[in-house]
Amino acid sequence: MMSRVFGGHRSNPSDALRIEYLPGARPPIRTLPGIGEEKVIRTIACPGCDTHYAVYGASAFCPVCGPRPATDTVLERIEAGRRALALEDHLPADERDAARAAGVFDRFAADTVKNIVGPFEVFVRQQFNRRAANPAAAVKGKRGIFQRLDATTQLFTDYCSIDPPATVGPAVWQRLHEDFAAGTCSPTATESSTPSSSPSSPRAACTKASGSSSSGQDADRGLDDVETVVRKLAALP
Ligand SMILES: [Zn+2]
Repeated sequence: MMSRVFGGHRSNPSDALRIEYLPGARPPIRTLPGIGEEKVIRTIACPGCDTHYAVYGASAFCPVCGPRPATDTVLERIEAGRRALALEDHLPADERDAARAAGVFDRFAADTVKNIVGPFEVFVRQQFNRRAANPAAAVKGKRGIFQRLDATTQLFTDYCSIDPPATVGPAVWQRLHEDFAAGTCSPTATESSTPSSSPSSPRAACTKASGSSSSGQDADRGLDDVETVVRKLAALP
């Protein structure tokens, strides 16, 4: 049978089937890719239940007892904002100039203040709930009341006998007003909202003293103001 398939006979011995193996170049030895898991940035010790847990970024919740104290959350957001703003000073000069020309840092600065408003509102509400005799009744039907600083002042004065501007310093409270109203610390917004600013006032000092843009410096100052307010309100009895 095999002879029928392959032919009955070979007239020439050189027709014989020949298999040859020539080893080629060895493939390069490849290293395994690194583990793609994000590094744990830090661990948090929950003051409520003493659980220690690792986080990769912002964390508003403890895995055991739920929402973390708003004070911690807002202070962490402030720190995160500062780190974002500091990027400008850490880039190589040519990359920094290109990013600055593209408006990247102005965007950072504007977002920094905007991003802090939400956590700050939660913080203020928590402070109010802790101190007012009947907080639910006081804010009934007033949605988003803690987004407005003048209304917040009124609530704390009426129900907690606390005067926020006096507690944190009138200048700080006023700047906070302007920053939150503008959503950014741009000099234009500042000038239009405080026409009476004297050149010596902190708000008007929008000069470019270091590598950071003026919008970045204003956002930094905005974060400082928010932190002052948070720490002073939280420290009240
Ligand atoms: Zn906890």
